Amino acid sequence: MIFDKLKSFFTHQRPHIFLPRTKSEIKKNIPLAKKTWMGVGGEAEFYFEPFDEKDLSFFIKNKPAIPMTVLGGGSNVIIRDKGVPGIVVHLGKSFANITRKGNIITCGAGLLTIDLAKFAQKEGLSGFEFLSGIPGSVGGALRMNAGAYGSEIKDILTSIRLVDGNGSVQEFSPQADFFQYRRNALPDDWIFIGASFKGTPAEPTVIQSKMDEFKKKREMGQPTGVKTCGSTFKNPEGLKAWQLIDKAGCRGLKKGDAIVSEKHSNFLINQGKATAEDVEELGEEVRRRVLKKCGVHLEWEVKRIGIRGDEE
Ligand SMILES: Cc1cc2nc3c(=O)[nH]c(=O)nc-3n(C[C@H](O)[C@H](O)[C@H](O)COP(=O)(O)OP(=O)(O)OC[C@H]3O[C@@H](n4cnc5c(N)ncnc54)[C@H](O)[C@@H]3O)c2cc1C
Repeated sequence: MIFDKLKSFFTHQRPHIFLPRTKSEIKKNIPLAKKTWMGVGGEAEFYFEPFDEKDLSFFIKNKPAIPMTVLGGGSNVIIRDKGVPGIVVHLGKSFANITRKGNIITCGAGLLTIDLAKFAQKEGLSGFEFLSGIPGSVGGALRMNAGAYGSEIKDILTSIRLVDGNGSVQEFSPQADFFQYRRNALPDDWIFIGASFKGTPAEPTVIQSKMDEFKKKREMGQPTGVKTCGSTFKNPEGLKAWQLIDKAGCRGLKKGDAIVSEKHSNFLINQGKATAEDVEELGEEVRRRVLKKCGVHLEWEVKRIGIRGDEE
C-alpha cells in the first residue's frame, strides 16, 4: 500500500535516484548543444520544463539531492563535452506571459528579453531599448544583470518573483545593491520565474529609432549570425577586456574549430565543429596570454557548465 503510494509519487528510477512525479515529464539524456548559442557540449542527465510555477515548486520541494542547473536562452553558457549531471531546468512557453498595468510591465522569466523590448516599444514605454539586442531570457538577464549602452536590467526592475531553494514562491523588490556588474547576489539555487519593470511613457517611433540605433552600433562592432556567447570575459575595473586581448595579440587566435573573433576580440566563435574543450581551452589561453602581457587576470563572464571531456 505504502509502496504503491510512493510509486505514484515518484517517477524515473535509477539506483538511488527517485525523481518526483511532476506534471510535465522529466526527460532523460537530452542533448543541450542546440539549446545554446555556442552550440557545443553534451547532454543533460535529466531535463525538466515545468508545466507552471506550482509544478516547479513541487519539484524543488521533493527533489532528491542531485545537482540542479537552470538553462535560460543558452546565450551565456558553454555546456561542457561530457554534459551536465543531475537535472537541467528550463522555463518554457508557460513562463513567457507578459502584461502591462500603468507604466509597469510584468512578465514571466521564460520570455525572451528581445520580446520584452518589442512589447515595451509597442506599448510606448521607454527604458527597455537596450534589451532589444541582448539574446536570451528575462531569467538569464536577471541572473547576469544583463546590460548594454549604459543601462542594466536592475535599472528598470521593480520586483522579482522566484522559487527559492526550499520550493517556496517569493516576490519582493530586491535592493539595488543585490545587482552588480554581470552578476547578482541572490542565492544560486533560486530560480527566477517572473519580474516587473517600470518604463517611462514615450512615442513608439522614438523608442524604435533608439532601438535601430543600438542595432546599427551592434552590427558595426560585433560579429553577427555566428555561434558565440557574446562577451567572454568581464571588463576588469576601469579597463576593456577586448583591448587587453588585442594587446596580448590574441585576435584571430585559434584552437580546433574555435576562434577569437577578428571583429570583436572579446567574442569567441565556434566556426561549426568546435568542441566545448576547444572553446574553453581557447579562452584559457587568452587568459594566460593577457596575464603574461598585461598582468591582468581576466574573469570569465560566460558560465561554463558540466563535466569536461578529460574529467571522470
Ligand atoms: C551575440 C550575443 C550578444 C550579447 N550581448 C550582450 C550584451 O550586450 N550585454 C549583456 O549583458 N550580455 C550579452 N550577451 C550575453 C547574454 O545574452 C546575457 O547574459 C543573457 O542575459 C543571458 O540570458 P540567457 O537566458 O541566455 O541565460 P543562459 O545563458 O541560459 O544562462 C546564464 C546564467 O543565468 C542563469 N539563469 C538562466 N535563467 C535563469 C532563471 N530563470 N533563474 C535563475 N537563473 C537563471 C543560468 O543558470 C546561468 O547561470 C550576449 C550574448 C550573445 C550570444
